This record gives sequence, C-alpha cells and structure tokens, in this order.
Amino acid sequence: MPIQIIRQDITKIKCDAIVNAANKYLIAGGGVDGAIHRAAGPRLQAECLKLGGCNVGEAKATGGYKLNCKYVIHTVGPKWKGGNNNEAEKLESCYKSSLELAKEKGCESIAFPLISAGVYGYPVGEAFEIAQRTCADFLKENDMTVYIVVFNRSALEFSSKLYSDIREYIDDNYVEEQLELYPRSLNIERSISAPAKGFAGSMAVMDEMPCESASVPEFKIRDESFSEMLLRKIDEKGMKDSECYKRANIDRKLFSKIRSNPEYKPSKQTVLAFCIALELDLDETDEMLLKAGFALSNSILGDVIVEYFIKSKNYDIFKINEALFAYDQKLLGSVA
Ligand code: ADP
Repeated sequence: MPIQIIRQDITKIKCDAIVNAANKYLIAGGGVDGAIHRAAGPRLQAECLKLGGCNVGEAKATGGYKLNCKYVIHTVGPKWKGGNNNEAEKLESCYKSSLELAKEKGCESIAFPLISAGVYGYPVGEAFEIAQRTCADFLKENDMTVYIVVFNRSALEFSSKLYSDIREYIDDNYVEEQLELYPRSLNIERSISAPAKGFAGSMAVMDEMPCESASVPEFKIRDESFSEMLLRKIDEKGMKDSECYKRANIDRKLFSKIRSNPEYKPSKQTVLAFCIALELDLDETDEMLLKAGFALSNSILGDVIVEYFIKSKNYDIFKINEALFAYDQKLLGSVA
C-alpha cells in the first residue's frame, strides 16, 4: 500500500523498518529516539555504538530487537536554522537514504516519524510536506507501504492561506445536521442484472416479444459500471494505469482487482481518490461516485473538504490528505 498518515506511537507499529530521528553520535537521546531505544532494549544502543556515528542526511540500519520490526533505520535530520542552510535538501536526503536502505534490505513497509520536527525545530507543516513529497517520489518507481507517523496532530500548522480558505469554505458549506428529507448522501445500492460477458454498456431493449410467451421477459438493463467508467476515463485522459493509481495513492494490487472485476464495489475514499487523480470536476465526480452508490454530502466534513479542493482545481492528493488528517477525517486512497 502507498502512503498512510497515521497518529500513533511509532514504537507500537508493526512493519519491516522503523525510522529513528537520531543524532549524529547514534547515542540514545530524547524524543522519538529515546522512545525507540527504550522500547527496543539496550542491545540496540550496543549495536549503534559499533556504527561509528552517522552524518546529517544519511541513514544506517540496525536490528529491531524488542520492537515489532526487523530493522531500525537511524537517520540524522538537520537542525532548523531559519531555512537558508539547505535544511530542506538535508531533510529530503534523510527520507531518500532511509527509503533506499530499506529497499536494499528488502523491506516492504517502513514507518517514519516527522524527522527534525521536534527538538531540531523544523516547522512541522514544512517537515510534513517534505516527508510526503519525498516518499511519494520514491513510490513512483518503487513498491513499499510507507507510514508517516504524526505523533501530535495539533502540531501541524493550520495558519497558512490554504487552511484559512478551507476553514472559510467549511463555514459556508458544512451543515452539521442534515434536516432535509432527501439528503445528498444517497448510498444507493443499484440493482444490476447480470451482464452478458463483453456487453458494452448501453441499454438493450427488445422491441418484439414473442406472443406465445406468457411470462414477461427480463430486460437486461446494464449501466457502465464504476470500473468500466474508471478505465474509460483513464483512456480519455491519455494516462497510464500506473500514473493514475499512483496519483490516487492507491495500491497496485487494489487497482488490478478493480481492473479485472467490472462489478468491483469500491469504498467512497477509493472512488474519490480516483476522481482526484483524474482531475474530474464536481459534476464528473458526482457521476463517478454515483456509479459506486455514493454521493458527496455537505453534512460530512471530509466531503466538504474534498469538494473545496475540487472546486479550487487543487488535485494534489497529499495536500488533500493532509487537510483531511488535520480535520480527523478519512483519508483518500488505500487506507489502513
Ligand atoms: P528531532 O530531534 O529530529 O527533531 P524529535 O524526537 O525531537 O526529533 O521529534 C521528531 C518528531 O517525532 C516530532 O514530531 C515528535 O512529535 C515525534 N515523536 C516523538 N515521540 C514519538 C513517538 N513515540 N512516536 C512517533 N513520533 C514521535
């Protein structure tokens, strides 16, 4: 699965590699480093001492000991000195080196804390952005499940222009209690009669009925299904499948399931992720959601946020997920 943003103690995560925001001496300190060493036990420190330290932006691996992981990857983040000291490049390099090392070790999953965003003083929003971008770039060429662990949700900064715009949009559009008789959220389970294989999708209507037949024949009415619509839209946009599912933050395996099963029933988050990847406008999004039996609702905060991004033509799934995470809403794409 691709990137998952979660709020948890990183020492409790079960995955192949846990990344430690270490110092260059690789000697147990405070913050996440202290937590990892405490949970792993003293043998972790003993192995660290044999590694001869680590430079800023680089990464070194040890065993996981008592942690639920095979490896701890120690990387040293830059200290924030105002932003003009190549902090961004160095921080990017921490993620890249750790991911490359995890790949070399055959890891299929890795969990990152927000490196440098604690004692080293990196602004949390920017650190989070770099974490997401660098991991997303890596995942364009590689398959791995990447967890970005945000320990303290409130640490994310919501002071930017984007967040004040989102807040304004929510104030104008979010309806806490839906009093309408017919809410926008339809959740329609469509009854579709089983299609003949290869049937392209328009309505098949019989104009003549054999008069001997007493029983009413079953009309085969067959709409284009969600997965058929998805594949058509991908073609229309001239996209490659892989480009589409990666932009949607969707797992390759999930995409092949959808591809091979015309009747696949996706979750709402999966549908929305594809709408974003395909850069659909609001009407097209409504249409695609309906194919899967869903609709956007202005009484669901997450829907209002996604709607804001679509209306602003901002189709960056990672920014959208960051905003959804900030508001404690379900994220788009493959989610845990
Ligand atoms: P640095 O020195 O690189 O800034 P810190 O450990 O001080 O490292 O903080 C890095 C990030 O890790 C911070 O965002 C902090 O909130 C977070 N953090 C601290 N403890 C944990 C933990 N147990 N699990 C996940 N993240 C944690």
